[in-house]
Amino acid sequence: MPMLRARVHVSTVFSSIISHCVSTKLNLSRSSMAASSSIRIAVVGDVHDYWNFEQDSKALEFLQITKLVVSRFGAVYRQVSLLLPLNLSHYGDFGDENVEVVQNVANLEFAKAVILGNHDAWFTKQFSGSEEKDKVQLQLECLGKEHVAYRRSDFPQIKVSVVGGRPFSCGGKPLFRRKLLSARYGVKDMDGSAKRIQKAALGTPEDHFLILLAHNGPAGLGSDLNDICGKDWEFDGDGDHGDPDLAHAISLLKENNQVSIPLVVFGHMHKKLAYGNGFRKMIVVGADNTIYLNGAIVPRVKRLDDEDKRSLDDESALSSSEAKGSRRAFTLVEISEGRVTKIAESWVSVVEARTTLEEEHILFEGS
Ligand SMILES: [Zn+2]
Ligand SMILES: [Zn+2]
Repeated sequence: MPMLRARVHVSTVFSSIISHCVSTKLNLSRSSMAASSSIRIAVVGDVHDYWNFEQDSKALEFLQITKLVVSRFGAVYRQVSLLLPLNLSHYGDFGDENVEVVQNVANLEFAKAVILGNHDAWFTKQFSGSEEKDKVQLQLECLGKEHVAYRRSDFPQIKVSVVGGRPFSCGGKPLFRRKLLSARYGVKDMDGSAKRIQKAALGTPEDHFLILLAHNGPAGLGSDLNDICGKDWEFDGDGDHGDPDLAHAISLLKENNQVSIPLVVFGHMHKKLAYGNGFRKMIVVGADNTIYLNGAIVPRVKRLDDEDKRSLDDESALSSSEAKGSRRAFTLVEISEGRVTKIAESWVSVVEARTTLEEEHILFEGS
């Protein structure tokens, strides 16, 4: 998706099918946020270079997943942080195959599951095979087992499992970076990809909450330009840009109730639509109650000193603004007793030692 440089209005009202959407400005203290005993998961989609180890660590600490998880389960895991694709502008701006940012995320002291996107393989079409490693290989080495493509990562202390879909996806019908997929995963076509995702999910412990994590969402969720995976940049009639293999895998898993899928998380399709067409639906709840969540809030960092809250538009602006403080977006998912109880787009301001929740836009509230 293109990196849109125009204004981002965080107070947008989400046009999702959820009737509980509210848009509020909050200044909550740490104590008020700690009241819940649920597991809280942070989702970060489409980083596009907007990652600062110190400030994002502070924000994640502030969001208090650590305390909730540790106090409830005595867990080693401080948090399951679903970090969606680390990629840059669709039009090849800066930071494509940015190994440094990937390493920075890998260094985060939170348990996490990551899947790389199309821009993380923007230049590299096949593995180099020589001593000089290509950047896709380097990124995969940085992430190790935290890169969950076609595999399942279990977090038994919090009873959560994450199953990864196809990495490097750029959406729609083409199998993007076919040679990489074939060499690393033995995947040669959409059908094979769907079966690999299905296989990874089979055997998920029955008492675990399963999260499917992919770069792009599944096909079949709508073809309007503001649909959760709808094309917003061209209008050729087929507007559904979802991944067919992910949709196929989900339907295979749902057949005969092989595995229950309460939550599917992805990015790629940015919240702000092209040509000033407003904002995308970021959440869909299926008829069978599977929740599909798009976490691609781009850009996810804004300067604090700018009254009209323009988005940052280059790396130098990011550096200077972070010296003054920034606002950083996370999509938070709360899970209690195996059910999603709340999903919110949260903007945390970090100014030196002071961290506050500035805005929270509730996307979903369960019973
Ligand atoms: Zn993106
Ligand atoms: Zn993408």
